[in-house]
Amino acid sequence: MRRKLAAGNWKMNGSLSAMAEVQALCEAHPEPKVDMLLCPPATLIWPMASMRGEHPLAVGAQDCHPEDKGAHTGDIAAPMLREAGATAVIVGHSERRADHGESSETVRAKAEAAHRAGLLAVVCVGETLEEREAGRALEVVGEQLAASLPPGSTGETVVVAYEPVWAIGTGKVAGTEEIGEMHGFLREALRKSHPEAADAIRLLYGGSVKGSNAAEIFAVPDVDGALVGGASLTAEQFSPIVTALE
Ligand code: PGA
Repeated sequence: MRRKLAAGNWKMNGSLSAMAEVQALCEAHPEPKVDMLLCPPATLIWPMASMRGEHPLAVGAQDCHPEDKGAHTGDIAAPMLREAGATAVIVGHSERRADHGESSETVRAKAEAAHRAGLLAVVCVGETLEEREAGRALEVVGEQLAASLPPGSTGETVVVAYEPVWAIGTGKVAGTEEIGEMHGFLREALRKSHPEAADAIRLLYGGSVKGSNAAEIFAVPDVDGALVGGASLTAEQFSPIVTALE
């Protein structure tokens, strides 16, 4: 009943020439059976939204400011992203939590800004290697979820992405047992915090997902799709992930 989602996070990569990849991806999946989302750098949102034309590929941003406008040099507000053609935004990615010191409270404020602007918020959570080795993965991720997810979130307003920090960009994928344990834990946590929406909120796995491991990861219960970094940059790499989800 939860529609699967193949999401790509281009991070600080890509250029106008990469719109050829978007075209190729759309051509490879003319009528996708799953939701597709690509989140390029903000400067490419409009070109990407123009390139996909009538194709259902959704375009998203990688961050937004918690406020709707104001004196915040260099920041971008959620309504601006919406105007540029975005319908989603990633908030709380571990790279932003680490590089910009974003707390879960800030992440929640950003998710709320996304709601106000009509953007789907992809809320990221995930533990570091140190936390996992200390046996604290569930505790840390549970705390992040509780503090990052706005009250009243629904399956239409949020997606949760579990991305263990140690699996991002490292080629190290979490084992299916680890993924299953965490996703089951997140679903249970949602049942307590958001009982009405818990079964509708999609849970994505992220961290070194590629065509060769996607099917195995998607077979894990409570995995409703993936948030893909490196392997979302080309149609050749992203297309098999979409196919594995279909
Ligand atoms: P990766 O990144 O697929 O390159 O590991 C995932 C992410 O950070 O969203």
